[in-house]
Amino acid sequence: MNSKQRRAIAISGIVQGVGFRPFVYSLASQLNLKGFIRNRSGGVLIEVEGSESVLNQFTDRLKSQPPPLSRIDGLSWHQIPAIDDGPFWIAESDASALTQTFVSPDVATCAECRDELFDRSDRRYRYPFLNCTHCGPRLTIICRSPYDRVNTTMAPFPMCDRCRTEYEDPSNRRFHAQPIACGQCGPRLQLLDAAGQPIDTADPLGDFCAAIGGDRIAAIKGIGGFHLVCSAASDKVVRTLRKRKHRDEKPFAVMVRDASVAAKWCEIDSMERELLVSAQRPIVLLRKRTDAAQISHEVAPDHSSFGVMLPSSPLHELLLDAWGDQPLVMTSGNRSDEPIAYEDSDASKRLRGIADLFLLHNRQIHVRCDDSVTRVIAGRESPIRRSRGYAPMPIKLPFGCPQPTLALGGQLKNVFALASGRDAFLSHHIGDLDHLAALDALKRDIELYEQLFGIKPRCVVHDKHPDYASTRYAVERADGDSIPALTVQHHHAHLASCMAEHQLDGEVIGVIFDGSGYSPDGTIWGGEFLVGGYDSFVRAGRLRQVRLPGGDKATKEPWRMALSYLADAECDADQWFAEVAASSSIIEPDAVRVVRQMIDRGFNSPWSSSAGRLFDAVAALAGVRLAVSFEGQAAMQLEALATDVTSSEVYPHVVNLQDEMTLDTRPLIRGVVDDRRCNVDAAIIARRFHNTLSAMIVQACSSIADSRGLDRVVLSGGVFTNALLSAQVAQQLTTTGIRVFQHHVVPANDGGLCLGQLAIAARQMQ
Ligand code: ZN
Ligand code: ZN
Ligand code: FE
Repeated sequence: MNSKQRRAIAISGIVQGVGFRPFVYSLASQLNLKGFIRNRSGGVLIEVEGSESVLNQFTDRLKSQPPPLSRIDGLSWHQIPAIDDGPFWIAESDASALTQTFVSPDVATCAECRDELFDRSDRRYRYPFLNCTHCGPRLTIICRSPYDRVNTTMAPFPMCDRCRTEYEDPSNRRFHAQPIACGQCGPRLQLLDAAGQPIDTADPLGDFCAAIGGDRIAAIKGIGGFHLVCSAASDKVVRTLRKRKHRDEKPFAVMVRDASVAAKWCEIDSMERELLVSAQRPIVLLRKRTDAAQISHEVAPDHSSFGVMLPSSPLHELLLDAWGDQPLVMTSGNRSDEPIAYEDSDASKRLRGIADLFLLHNRQIHVRCDDSVTRVIAGRESPIRRSRGYAPMPIKLPFGCPQPTLALGGQLKNVFALASGRDAFLSHHIGDLDHLAALDALKRDIELYEQLFGIKPRCVVHDKHPDYASTRYAVERADGDSIPALTVQHHHAHLASCMAEHQLDGEVIGVIFDGSGYSPDGTIWGGEFLVGGYDSFVRAGRLRQVRLPGGDKATKEPWRMALSYLADAECDADQWFAEVAASSSIIEPDAVRVVRQMIDRGFNSPWSSSAGRLFDAVAALAGVRLAVSFEGQAAMQLEALATDVTSSEVYPHVVNLQDEMTLDTRPLIRGVVDDRRCNVDAAIIARRFHNTLSAMIVQACSSIADSRGLDRVVLSGGVFTNALLSAQVAQQLTTTGIRVFQHHVVPANDGGLCLGQLAIAARQMQ
């Protein structure tokens, strides 16, 4: 005999505002269970009543098929007396449920909504703003918590009767979907001309498509900001876009209709496909196919990959459906490196002169949110920019933060974070704080996040660099609120960031390779071997230091680094210049003399162990690139060249073990110079360089591991977004029995710093 039981099930995690209650409602109804579900602080409470076997089935299915946006962190239940109440229902939330709100990231159109979009018989057929509890805009439309329609930019759109019925029906996919809308009651498209004047048309999208088909450049309002759009097949129009945008060489992302179209232009493995079609819809870096001739070379010059994304909103779906099997350039709506435009008035002002046409809509974007960028390294996701679709999904810290804490991140690729307990809420990509607009956005978005998550920081943590805008903000903030400000050394934060992601503790070896970071000793770091954990660290080794002639200027002009490394390796700089650089119009002969003097005398040329600058030097020495228009460009190009070569050859290399361990780069530099003199192909030089650097890193790690009795290595810093180097180092270290940890959740670059800062601050406060 199967008697009735009743269970009280407590679920914690991300289960509010993500369609969890309608999911539980329909599951319980299907199984004919009695009881109710209620939102409460930190999760939901369910009471269900039925036979034991059905209750087990219910609990299993809760765990195995929760709604796509939810995340169950904990599920526990106990038996309570059966009361034989009515059919399953959704109870009013506890008042306390409102204190801890979860804000979902923006989610790409789900399969069901997409079907409706192209279903002639559906009332939302071709409606560019349809969504449901499983998909649609979230972070970008929320103005304040709690997440209710009145607190979003959907507030000005009163629901029509049919939408309201769906919204109030717990069995409906749109139950409590705050951005619910239809053609009757929701936002509408609007087309503007180049001067920002409305164009009267019955078919704004059709006109828009016709314009880009006719080689015009247009701006389209997306989920987190404006994109500039044009045909990716036409050299002429892509070149025009570069000129108007003042973006000389940085690759443009493209959007294609679906993964099968992407496969025509790029090589895609199963993990890459998964990321492309994921609800986050990031830009995925995909290797170009050699026969991908119909994409303009101008889209991603000198790169071996394209940044590809699929439509992330119904509007994009409609656009790409009309556009067909061709890729579209879809690049952020800004001039040069300024923050992306997201407000209508601002966009039509800033993009005037770039866009010939604007496709807008009257739903306001409240939070600017750039596209995320990711790639796959050795079968695992390796994020480059964690933004739309990912933020503000919390990341679990390895231990709780005793006080609510705000971490400010770095200066470039800025991301800030708020911590409460073990949850770290990392912001969307804020960008380079050199731009005033990005700094304003930082301040505004910190305020917004504090309100959204109900976190009032009792501590701030920031980089040691005194001149970072994020540091200045942190200091002001700490003064103003009379709360402590903790500082964390840049590379220590990188180390802790990778540890935190993997929930590591104790001591590890950190290989931290990046462009630059403020150091305790007045030199510029960036090729460091650290030993330590959250509490403290020591530097156990580094790349050999060279002069950085002209400081920041050396970052933009790799030829300066070439001269510096040549001087260090006692190579003949005159000869290199005559053979490689003399014919270039980039360097003035007089400048070479001045820079060589700077290096000799150490004038305005701090010592640096930066790995990023070593890549620059090798690129210049190999004749690949003497100047760059963005940081990391030379390194990306070297990686692209090296990836096409199969070779395990290495240059001579030495790891000095006396005193402080040093990776001596001089034999490597001489090898590059000799190769170049013998007209060895740049791709082969690039490959040998990668092989050599990997070999030195592995040798250094093995030696540190032996001497200190450690067997875990974390790889962090922007250089490790290089797939070839990362994969090689990880693979070789693993064969020596060392456990290797790489970034899969936050970027290895400065976009991941704030997570490390939080972990270190949390430990210090304990
Ligand atoms: Zn949907
Ligand atoms: Zn409606
Ligand atoms: Fe860094």
